[in-house]
Amino acid sequence: MKDVHNFCAGPCLLPQTVYEQAAQAILNFEQTGMSILSISHRSKEFLTVLEEARQLSLELLDLHKKGYVALFLQGGASMEFLRIPYNLMQQKAGYINTGTWSTKAIEQAKMFGEVKVIASSEDQHFSYIPKGIQVEEELDYVHFTSNNTIYGTQFNDVPQTKAPLVCDMSSDIYSREFAYDQMDLIYAGAQKNIGPAGVSLILVKEEILGKTTRTIPQMLDYQEHIAKDSLYHTANVFAIYTCLLNLRWLKQQGGVAAIEKVNNQKAALLYETIDRLDFVHGVTAKTDRSKMNVTFTFEEEQMNTVFDQLCQEANVVNIKGHRSVGGYRASLYNAVTLASVEVLTGVLQQMKTRV
Ligand code: PMP
Repeated sequence: MKDVHNFCAGPCLLPQTVYEQAAQAILNFEQTGMSILSISHRSKEFLTVLEEARQLSLELLDLHKKGYVALFLQGGASMEFLRIPYNLMQQKAGYINTGTWSTKAIEQAKMFGEVKVIASSEDQHFSYIPKGIQVEEELDYVHFTSNNTIYGTQFNDVPQTKAPLVCDMSSDIYSREFAYDQMDLIYAGAQKNIGPAGVSLILVKEEILGKTTRTIPQMLDYQEHIAKDSLYHTANVFAIYTCLLNLRWLKQQGGVAAIEKVNNQKAALLYETIDRLDFVHGVTAKTDRSKMNVTFTFEEEQMNTVFDQLCQEANVVNIKGHRSVGGYRASLYNAVTLASVEVLTGVLQQMKTRV
């Protein structure tokens, strides 16, 4: 496994030690003689796991003493596109459209009230982040996507607004320091920097809930999930346990500040290489480049075949761009090592002699 350089956009690479501990827990979970796959979600063993995971998920972002609650729910980030307006929309919400996932969130919100797109980068194929966003009017909430996984752009700062701020951080949560406490609801599908697919994390400030007069089905009601401590129904026990292992790993690395330094090094190396070589081009505006998803294309179509061949020889995998955009995308989530990025930049350099 160590010889393969996996740049998958998600479900993504996790640290080797997380795989090992998760595998061990399938065979014998913490010396209970039972598999983690076969313990009750209401057992004391799992309640301990869930509690630690919820606590650590907040602590690592320094949100644990600020009125936030952590929920581990199912349905992926896409379910939150729906759950958010269900819980927060009274009449009108503002959305910033920076890509495919924001667009999907907007489509869902329109079923619940008026959606005002307060800024958009659709005019240039979502290749940049709109600047100077001013939100004067009264809105129930403002929604944005901090990292555009598909096109490869990322917000440097949190947009300023008086309305509650909601953020889809699916592809950059826990990757960097950010003004987490300026956001009232942060959500993420787990399968990038949190853990495996099948569970999502919602960090919500309790004070923003309970304001809509709408009748909310229980499965979609954040307050119901909070009242039931994320156990309204059978939780994804194994995925939550693996998230906990990964969050513990992050804490051991020194937390978000420490991992951000490594993430910066990885992204800098790859972008520097792309900028130095004249036959490869970054896809997005330089100021808004994502440090998690690096997108690039080659000057000429036939170079793709050479690059694919060299990647295969070097065991560089899962690097094709999203099917809607084409080109290439290297995802540099927390568990991707600098050594893997060096292999990739080595492949790009090697292209020099082949084009
Ligand atoms: N938002 C973002 C930013 C994403 O990258 C993704 C998936 N890659 C989603 C939402 C959708 O997540 P899910 O598949 O968990 O519903």
